Amino acid sequence: MPAVKVIENDASSKNVVTMRIVGRGGANVLIEFGHPNWLWRCCVRWPHLLSANNAYTIDNIHYIKNNVEPLLHGLLCPMELIDVSTDILRPILDTFISELDDEVVKVIKIKNLASKVATNLIQNDHLLKSYCSQNFQTILLELKPKWIYYDTNYCRNCTHNALKGRKTEYCYNQLLMNSLHLETMLIDYERYPVEFKVTILEYLRNASNVFRVLYELQKKLSENAIPIKNLRSIRDIKDELLLLMTLRDVTCFIEWNNAGNTLSVHIVDVDLKPKKKWTHWTKTQRRIESGKKVLHTSNK
Ligand SMILES: [Zn+2]
Repeated sequence: MPAVKVIENDASSKNVVTMRIVGRGGANVLIEFGHPNWLWRCCVRWPHLLSANNAYTIDNIHYIKNNVEPLLHGLLCPMELIDVSTDILRPILDTFISELDDEVVKVIKIKNLASKVATNLIQNDHLLKSYCSQNFQTILLELKPKWIYYDTNYCRNCTHNALKGRKTEYCYNQLLMNSLHLETMLIDYERYPVEFKVTILEYLRNASNVFRVLYELQKKLSENAIPIKNLRSIRDIKDELLLLMTLRDVTCFIEWNNAGNTLSVHIVDVDLKPKKKWTHWTKTQRRIESGKKVLHTSNK
């Protein structure tokens, strides 16, 4: 076993490196510290003990490497587990975790997928953020396909949007079935460069695009997993269902660069779901089933 390198404060250094939070979800904080191409992702899912978050992070990285990465055809964003001295992260973690009871923080070091140049946010809704650079030379889409596969006679995503009162017109299931749905998805479609549209439309027709990969995985797992409406206790939560719920909650980054006309696609947010979330899943499912069902919001 190689020795674990613990990142320590370098008191002798005269360079002051600022640490800042660049993202905050319910379960994680994303921190930029010293290197713009990498982020530190710290689990804060358990607000009382650092050791509980550390134990989860170790389980989580093993789960990602063993169970998720092999399914994703090289699309998973590069990431690795590192140990960081608790003293370094104390100023940030103090806000999120009441007792820092370990000397190191188990951190997932993850490639920073935010673009340095595509920083103008031109569309921002619950399931899609679109950024562009000056003159649209670089475009970055950050999106959540959610339940891109559904086995009901209504669309889970469009129905959930309606339930939440979201005005979203587009749907990733429709985009997968018909690439021209891109025009419904992107506000001010005509502002995007023709080269971008041609390239992304071609990508959407490719049999191994990120939406197709997620659709096929969700379909296969849905056939084996117990339906959420049939869950009665935490003992009903099996590995197939946890993996399915992970794949229903990922984030995808698609970056297009005019130079070379290239697309770069990555998947992040592939965490192991705690089994205790099952009550939340069944509650949502009950609300979906008792409300108005929608087979896609848009007819385009
Ligand atoms: Zn839909």
